[in-house]
Amino acid sequence: PDVVNKIAAGEIIVAPVHALKELLENAVDAGSTSLEILVKDGGLKLLQITDNGCGIQKDDLAILCERHTTSKITMFEDLSSIATYGFRGEALASISHIAHLTVTTKTKDSAVAWRAHYLDGRLVPPKPGQPAEPKGVAGRPGTQITVEDLFFNIPTRRRAFRSPADEFNKIIDMVGRYAIHCEGVGFTCKKAGESSSNLSIASAATTTDRIRQIYGSSVANELITLKSEDDRWGFKAQGLVTNANYHIKKTTLLLFINHRSVESTHFKKAIEQTYNTYLPKGGHPFVYLSLEIDPARVDVNVHPTKREVHFLNEDEIIQAVCRQIEEELAAVDT
Ligand code: ADP
Ligand code: MG
Repeated sequence: PDVVNKIAAGEIIVAPVHALKELLENAVDAGSTSLEILVKDGGLKLLQITDNGCGIQKDDLAILCERHTTSKITMFEDLSSIATYGFRGEALASISHIAHLTVTTKTKDSAVAWRAHYLDGRLVPPKPGQPAEPKGVAGRPGTQITVEDLFFNIPTRRRAFRSPADEFNKIIDMVGRYAIHCEGVGFTCKKAGESSSNLSIASAATTTDRIRQIYGSSVANELITLKSEDDRWGFKAQGLVTNANYHIKKTTLLLFINHRSVESTHFKKAIEQTYNTYLPKGGHPFVYLSLEIDPARVDVNVHPTKREVHFLNEDEIIQAVCRQIEEELAAVDT
């Protein structure tokens, strides 16, 4: 059965960045205002994320990496109202099937932090012969998740990663996206053993500051604020998009739906078309867009391996947002 779980997990988490994205979302969901990320060998050797969020109760540690635990099933009774999609309570479980997972966590009511090790969905001893139960350790409130030797049991996958540098770039890109989206949260990301961070965003930084730090002033100096909503389609959108003074060879689209970074080919195409008449030939925009859609309208049944998102009235919502962009571009233009 663990072979089946391993294969399923390997299909969900194809690259280190996919594990990292889930850990980022969990840390943000926990109400953290500071996230520290440490990476070794492009995340294949080590992915560690330390947050200062609510922490996990000691009693929940035993079932943390189980798929569909009782508490999770109750939570998921109303499938159509899950605000998130994709893993549905399976991220940590999946990771535990293809890596060595260590969780150290402290809630603010707990006198100590608790550390637990996982493999294949279950608590395991830190070393053979030691007890598998969580161990009390010193620590600050919050959670630290350590993922070591990702894909250690899928050697063909592991060998397929030719360049840790490429994997690290994907990780930095993803952290940057969440850093731009999560105002009020500080982020650092660095390679293990290095003293300086590759990304460091103060919790007080504004969204524009964050974009400036990550994408540069050429983007940050040319941003227009976007706001759009329509009750008919049950959505609210807000964002920052470049005006006609800015253009680059490839579109940068930072798209968040219900606070999850997602991909949407439809959305990207429509945005590119909208900018077409305003930018020189071959020029493309930077677009950061955050959409809140009634969760019941987002397709939660899309298979977790699909990074593309779909939602009800997709065409109408995309059109409405693009019309808003068009209006803003036209207004700045004249
Ligand atoms: P899901 O996020 O879909 O519930 P996960 O496997 O990602 O499934 O996480 C399982 C649960 O573990 C979460 O619902 C949350 O209660 C808890 N959890 C995971 N990461 C953290 C964290 N960093 N801080 C606090 N709780 C966490
Ligand atoms: Mg999660």
